[in-house]
Amino acid sequence: MHYGRRKRFETSEERNRPIERFCDRAECTEEGAYRAPKSRDGADGYHLFCLEHVREYNKSWNYFAGMSDVDVQDFQRSAPWAHRPTWRIGDNKASRFEDMRMSDPFGFADSEEAVIERARRTERRFTADQRRAFDVLQIEPTDDLREIKLRYKQLAKRFHPDANGGDRGFEDRLKRINEAYGVLSASLS
Ligand SMILES: [Zn+2]
Repeated sequence: MHYGRRKRFETSEERNRPIERFCDRAECTEEGAYRAPKSRDGADGYHLFCLEHVREYNKSWNYFAGMSDVDVQDFQRSAPWAHRPTWRIGDNKASRFEDMRMSDPFGFADSEEAVIERARRTERRFTADQRRAFDVLQIEPTDDLREIKLRYKQLAKRFHPDANGGDRGFEDRLKRINEAYGVLSASLS
């Protein structure tokens, strides 16, 4: 993230917190602070992107037709959810969906019913182990192995000690990421 994009109201504590949710765009290591639905009605869940990639994504759908780039940035920045961590590992499902609903910038079909229905569908389709693994990889549950693999590679790269000056604090995280990917690739292929 470029310096100029830092949020005005961030405290130094917030600024220094580790990034926990990365942009969904493969290989991108920016924070996934901006949310975009995978389909028009939001029924397929959401991507989380960095500012650059949410703009790229939105552009393809023409959400912001007629708005300048500056307007789009102001709009995103002024949204109440823009400064909050969007996803914390270990949260229970209820609060995670709560987070998702509150961070819906476009007011897509995120009624209580839609959120509950999506959770139910996920529970029917995936085992508890698989759902835990999706949590670790921080992606919406999917049986698209390609998408899972992309996510895995992105996180593995991000948390590899070599990419972090040999910081051993990342080893545990990397281990959990490896295990989660193992669970999903074995059970979904
Ligand atoms: Zn990005």
